Amino acid sequence: MNTCQKCKAENPDGDNYCGQCGFQLTNFGAPVGLTQHELKAKDIRLNLGIVYLKMGKLEQAMQIAEDLLEQDSNDAQAIELQKDIGKLQESLSVEKVSNE
Ligand SMILES: [Zn+2]
Repeated sequence: MNTCQKCKAENPDGDNYCGQCGFQLTNFGAPVGLTQHELKAKDIRLNLGIVYLKMGKLEQAMQIAEDLLEQDSNDAQAIELQKDIGKLQESLSVEKVSNE
C-alpha cells in the first residue's frame, strides 16, 4: 500500500496519484533510491580497493581508501582497508630490509 503524504489515504501499489486528493504518490522513494545508488557505488569502490590490495597494488588501493575517507571520514570499512594496506606496506618494507 501507498499512503498519501497529504491526506493519509491508502492507495494500491503502483498508483501514481492519490485516489482521494490527487496528490502525487511517486518520487517519495527518490532520495532513498539515490542513497542506495551512492551506497552501491561506494561498495564497488571499496571492493575495487580490496582487489587492488590483494593484487599488491597498494598505491591504487590507498588512493581508493583515501577517496572514500574524504567522502566520509568515519567510514569503518575504508578505515579497515587503510589499516590493511598499512600492515601490508609495513610487512613489505620489513621484508626488503631483511633481504638486504
Ligand atoms: Zn491524498
